Amino acid sequence: MSNDVPVIPHWIDGQRVESAGNTAPVHNPATGAVQAHVALADEALIQKAIESARAGYEVWSETSMAKRQTAIFTFRELLNERKSELAKIITAEHGKVLSDAMGEILRGQEVVELATGFPHLIKGAFSENASTGIDVYSLKQPIGVAGIISPFNFPAMVPMWFFPIAIAAGNAVIVKPSEKDPSASLWMAELWKEAGLPDGVFTVLNGDKVAVDGLLNSPDVDSISFVGSTPIAQYIYETSAKNGKRVQALGGAKNHMLALPDADLDLVADQAINAGYGAAGERCMAISVVLAVEPVADELIEKIKQRIANLKIGNGAHTPEPDMGPLITDAHRDKVTGYIDIAEQDGATIVVDGRDFTVEGHESGFFVGPTLIDNIPTTSRAYTEEIFGPVLEIVRVQSFEEGVELINSGAFGNGTAIFTNDGGAARRFQHEIQVGMIGINVPIPVPVAYHSFGGWKASLFGDSKAYGVQGFEFFTREKAVTSRWLDPAKHGGINLGFPQND
Ligand code: NAD
Repeated sequence: MSNDVPVIPHWIDGQRVESAGNTAPVHNPATGAVQAHVALADEALIQKAIESARAGYEVWSETSMAKRQTAIFTFRELLNERKSELAKIITAEHGKVLSDAMGEILRGQEVVELATGFPHLIKGAFSENASTGIDVYSLKQPIGVAGIISPFNFPAMVPMWFFPIAIAAGNAVIVKPSEKDPSASLWMAELWKEAGLPDGVFTVLNGDKVAVDGLLNSPDVDSISFVGSTPIAQYIYETSAKNGKRVQALGGAKNHMLALPDADLDLVADQAINAGYGAAGERCMAISVVLAVEPVADELIEKIKQRIANLKIGNGAHTPEPDMGPLITDAHRDKVTGYIDIAEQDGATIVVDGRDFTVEGHESGFFVGPTLIDNIPTTSRAYTEEIFGPVLEIVRVQSFEEGVELINSGAFGNGTAIFTNDGGAARRFQHEIQVGMIGINVPIPVPVAYHSFGGWKASLFGDSKAYGVQGFEFFTREKAVTSRWLDPAKHGGINLGFPQND
C-alpha cells in the first residue's frame, strides 16, 4: 500500500473511524491509478459497528414518526442541493460518465421521496367488533438492525433502494458498500448526520467477505438486503436464512430485447445502443442480447454498427462528456474481453471488436470498446453467462415464439424488453415471459419507487423485492392485537374451548 493516497474509513457512531488492519486499493478506472485505499473491517471493528447500530436502533425505534419524517425530509433536501458533489465521487471511483452518475442519484432520490410519506405505508389496520366486544388490529414495527450489502455498479442508488425505507420504518442500518467504490456511502453518512439522524442509525462498514460474513453471522443483525452477482446472492440468501434472518438477495442478469419485424428499427437500434453500452454495460438492467426476429437482423445490425462508430468513449469526468467510460477494474476488463474470446472460439461473428481498445492519454485506463457480436451460439458461455460489459450479442430468431422460448429458458429473469407496434404481441409477451421486469418499447424498465424492483429465478433469492410497498413490508414486522375492554357489568365466565367469533 502506498502512503501517499488516503485511506477511506468506516462510519460508526456518527463519525469517521479508521481501522489499522488490511486495506484494498480503490482505482480511478479512467486512468488506472490507485487513488485511495479502503479500510477492510476486522472482527473487532464489525462488532463495534453492530453494537453502535444496536444502540442507534434502541433510540430511533422509539423516536416519533413526526421526528423521523423530519430527518428524512431534511436528508432529501440536502441530497437534492448537493447531488453534484456525489456524482463526482461516483464518477471518480466507478468511471461512469457524470450525467449517468447523476441519473443513478435521481433514481435513488425517488426512494427517499417515497420514504418521506412512510406513515401512510406503515399504518396498521383496525377491525372494530371483530367478535362481540372484541377489536382486532395490527401494528407494524421495525425489525431492528438491517444489513445492506451493495455492488460496485450503483454505489449510491442501490443503498438508496433500501436505507430510506428501513430508516423511515424505525430501523438502524449498516451499509457494507462495494470495496471498489466505497466513498458514496460515506458521503451519504455525513449527509444523514447533518440531517439530524441520531448517531448509530446509519453505519458504513467497509470491508470484504470478512465484513459480510460478520453481518450474516451476527445474532444482532436482523435482516439482510443484498445486491450483487448470483453466486454471492445465493450464498447470502442461504447463510442468512440458516441464521434465521429476513433476507432479500438480488443477483445477476442477462437481459434480452425481442425486436419484432414490425418495430421501428431506428428506435430499436438507438435503444439497443443506449441499454447495451450505457455505463459500459455495467448495469443489471443492461440489454445484453438482441433477439432479432427475421427478416430484420441484417438491417438492424447495420444500423447498430453505424451508431457505434459515432460513440465517444473516454474519461467520464471530462467535458464535453463522452458517451461511455471505462470498466471498474483491470480484472473485470480482462473478464469481459475473455468472454469476447469465448464467443469467437465458439463460432460467433465479431462485428465490432472492443478488445485492445485504448483512449488517448488514458492508456492505463480499464477501457473496452463497444462490441457487437452476431450469430452467438446459444450454447456458448458467452451467451448463457452474464458478461457485465459493453458487449451486445445478436441472436437471429424466426418467430415471436422462438424468442420467448429462448428468454424463458435462461437462468436469469431480471429484465427484458419487447419492441413492436403490435399491442397484441406485447400483451402476449408480458403474460408469457418468465421475467420480473418488462419493458414494452422501453429498454431499461426499472420501476418507479412506488412499484418494486426485482427479478425472477437466479436474479432474486427471497420473496421480497426492493422498495415500493414490498420494501415497507420487508423492513417492518406485524403484530396482531386482539383486544377486549371489559364492560364492568359483565364477565366472561369459564370456557376452555378454542376462541370462536360471535
Ligand atoms: P459481487 O457479488 O462481486 O459483490 C457484491 C457485494 O458482495 C460486494 O459488497 C462485495 O464486497 C460482496 N462480496 C463479494 N464476494 C463475496 C463473498 N465471496 N462473500 C461475501 N460477500 C462477497 O458483485 P459486483 O461485482 O460488485 O456487482 C456486479 C453484480 O451485481 C452483477 O452480477 C450485477 O448483475 C449484479 N447487480 C444486480 C442488481 C439487481 O438488481 N439484480 C443490481 C445491480 C447489480
